[in-house]
Amino acid sequence: MQAELGGSEVILTDGAFAPAAEAVPAEPRPAAAPAAQASTRPRADWRKNLPPIPGPGIVVTSSAPQLLDATPTYPTLDAVAEAIRECRQCVLCEGRTNTVPGEGNPLARLMCVGEGPGETEDRTGRPFVGKAGDLLSEILAAIELPRETVFIANVVKCRPPQNRKPLPDEAAACLPYLRAQIALIRPKVLLALGATAAEALLGARRSLGDMRGQVHRFDGIPLVVTYHPAALLRNPNWKKPTWDDVRIARQLVDA
Ligand code: URA
Repeated sequence: MQAELGGSEVILTDGAFAPAAEAVPAEPRPAAAPAAQASTRPRADWRKNLPPIPGPGIVVTSSAPQLLDATPTYPTLDAVAEAIRECRQCVLCEGRTNTVPGEGNPLARLMCVGEGPGETEDRTGRPFVGKAGDLLSEILAAIELPRETVFIANVVKCRPPQNRKPLPDEAAACLPYLRAQIALIRPKVLLALGATAAEALLGARRSLGDMRGQVHRFDGIPLVVTYHPAALLRNPNWKKPTWDDVRIARQLVDA
């Protein structure tokens, strides 16, 4: 299956997200090529036919009411992870195998924020390692910010039962950890993956459609909202708008 993404071709096979280089002549492809083959194809330059940077959206600052509650300070990301390991602030701690604090480059220019751990993440203690994680890695590679160069975290650090959405009180209980991680990393850009992350960071209850297409600010850091990779696996039509969103974020990283 193929889709037009911003003027370059994007190959969608088994959830892979790999823009193919325009210079490469079309080659006969088997009907169901494995994802590994798709990801070895030369990639298109993400800079081609760039979407414009959209206007400003919601601004959240430390003096905003939702941030007035005492956010604990931690000296390092390891200290945040240690506090998460001991955390019993909400019921999600009761069902966890492992906490999933997040991982990546402590000097990341891009920080991705997802919803919460799923089954594989709970088992391994690592964020985005299932199918949605593979797709996220593809997306990051396509914008030349390989997974190991960014930091990946979630709103909640323990797996909700049956992978349900975190409840508002669970997200609120866990938010100080995410804020602490953002404060320590100070990325150039935040990428909220899905409505749960966007709502938690922006303190807004709006549809994803409403929150996309603007550059919000979280404590001065540009924040771009896009679809959650798991949603893209369910609905490949959202890959085109996601490709635009992530290239907006990518441009802001370089700005
Ligand atoms: N894995 C994560 O770590 N977070 C999500 O939101 C989904 C899958």
